[in-house]
Amino acid sequence: MNNKAMYKFSYGLFVLTTSYEGKDNGCIINTAIQAASEPVQISIALNKANYTHELITRSNKFNVSVLTQDAPYDIFKLFGHQSGRNIDKFKDFGGCVRAENGIYYINEYTNAYFSVDVTDSCDMGSHTMFIGVPTAVELLSDAESMSYGYYQSDVKPKPEALNTEPGKTVWVCRICGYVYEGEELPADYICPVCKHPASDFEKVTS
Ligand code: FE
Repeated sequence: MNNKAMYKFSYGLFVLTTSYEGKDNGCIINTAIQAASEPVQISIALNKANYTHELITRSNKFNVSVLTQDAPYDIFKLFGHQSGRNIDKFKDFGGCVRAENGIYYINEYTNAYFSVDVTDSCDMGSHTMFIGVPTAVELLSDAESMSYGYYQSDVKPKPEALNTEPGKTVWVCRICGYVYEGEELPADYICPVCKHPASDFEKVTS
């Protein structure tokens, strides 16, 4: 089995947001799809370790904001490279407003958002798939949607750029860009940010 085949899937990239008892949080996902048309249903799959997962299991509602190609790397760092357990991701972020369901959606570098009420969920092991019906669907711009491939080729800094010290070896998470410093990456290592395994890390020596 060649796991690199997984990289051939084309995905969109989205900011998934929710809110529960006054706590707002959001994260980056590539797993939002229109799962059915009659009635319209939207599904997302989310790693159970994410704080957003914890909140959605309680709130049973979420918003999906569709990122556009002009979205800067800072958006991915803000929502994707840190946990809402430790910081308030919205504290200094101006590019969001609350939708009718009370949850933030992102109104900068996005072209649409969906508000979804969860109707079903499926335990997938590492992830939960949440399925729901949209309660609001709005178009925000005509800009091109960000794909996972475009993010990898044009937005995410090259691994070489993340290893600045000559003679040093680092391991860069291919999924989120997290940098592990050290000659050898433990085989059972799990990325602390995106929870992907050691096989998704790339060795960079400069
Ligand atoms: Fe990662």
